Amino acid sequence: MNLRAVKGMNDILPEEIGRWHQVEAAYRRTLERCGFREVRTPVVEATPLFVRSLGEGTDVVDKEMYTFQRHHDDLTLRPEGTAGAARAYLEHGVQNREPVTRWYYVGPMFRGERPARGRYRQFYQAGAEVYGDPGPVSDADMIDMLVGWLGELGIGGLEVVVNSLGSAETRTRYREALVTYLTPHRAELSEDSQQRFERNPLRILDSKNARDQALCADAPSLLDCLDPEDRAHFDGVLQALDALGTRYRIEPRLVRGLDYYTRTLFEIRTTSGELGAQSALCGGGRYDGLCRSLGSSHDVPCIGFAAGLERILLAMTAPPTPPNPFVMVAPIGEEAAAAALVLARDLRRAGVEAHLESKGQRLKAILRRADSSGATLCLLLGEEELANQRVRVKQLAQRTEEDVPRANAVTHVVAQLAAIARGASVP
Ligand code: AMP
Repeated sequence: MNLRAVKGMNDILPEEIGRWHQVEAAYRRTLERCGFREVRTPVVEATPLFVRSLGEGTDVVDKEMYTFQRHHDDLTLRPEGTAGAARAYLEHGVQNREPVTRWYYVGPMFRGERPARGRYRQFYQAGAEVYGDPGPVSDADMIDMLVGWLGELGIGGLEVVVNSLGSAETRTRYREALVTYLTPHRAELSEDSQQRFERNPLRILDSKNARDQALCADAPSLLDCLDPEDRAHFDGVLQALDALGTRYRIEPRLVRGLDYYTRTLFEIRTTSGELGAQSALCGGGRYDGLCRSLGSSHDVPCIGFAAGLERILLAMTAPPTPPNPFVMVAPIGEEAAAAALVLARDLRRAGVEAHLESKGQRLKAILRRADSSGATLCLLLGEEELANQRVRVKQLAQRTEEDVPRANAVTHVVAQLAAIARGASVP
């Protein structure tokens, strides 16, 4: 039997993880600087949570969820993070403790989509939610924060696309206008869009099919249906983006896949890197009605986004951060094994990354391994060093060597690594 990873689900091997850490560390730094705190919610939630918040008629709920029964519960692997976070926010009564709450998360999501470059069945999202702030300034603040993070990662060719869906009433009105416009063309729509016609006609605007797109080109614009309050909110977002100097394009046909959005919608795309068709790095928007639909007695204004980490990695052009310098501690022969173990432990306690060669080997083999491992220093402990209470410290790049008393070895290594980090030449 050929055991392989599940289709559309990827291993991330240690040689790739440095870039993931780089992206995630920059994300946490950016978000925490803006007052967000991390939340971790379960990967599995009750299925009705997603059905109720994302909405029936959406691709995610209708076709893509990993749903299963266990212990008489109907469960689903989370396809996105907003529903679970909102559930936790309400369940723990956070709104009674904080007027405004800023949460972020990073973790795996699951959708049974057709795998392609930049589209997987398990993928990682970094997302955030702000509860209790109706905007519009916070909407612009969030978009600009994302632009800052992506820019820091060296992703160029960014395009911010914004739209407003208006309130739930606006959407209902717009839905009617759209259906009226599309009805005479119904038979010309793609098969998928014909299905969306009944259940979720706004999604037809999202269609990638060229014929659907041509038909939608003259469809009524959502922005023309906004009521004065929605319009003022949208103008407020645009003015705040202008004040920040964050460039954007208004895209009246941007609707995005999920049902819970109201008012502000945005997407950040890139032309950089190797993404091809999957150019959307992150998407988000306001969902002021979500908390009520999950059982809250009142509306809680919310805005959030999710960014796909795999796509960000594909778009990144910044060089990976170099790995931390480390030393190798190697006993020559079996007798020095315990002494090498103690030395490695002492170095680690002093903050040095020390890789222990636990198997006593011949000197030649040790040096070959040290060279190929990328270590900065190799500390050798053989019979002679043991007898004299000394350690041989080899600097691998320069091919220099020093004989150091064991008692000073740790401070010597710390100082030598610091000097190398400063770029100073070391004997
Ligand atoms: P969404 O949750 O659909 O609004 O998507 C937000 C972001 O998550 C997208 O812009 C993508 O970067 C990423 N994303 C969504 N679905 C996938 C997927 N199947 N594979 C990889 N990334 C995805």
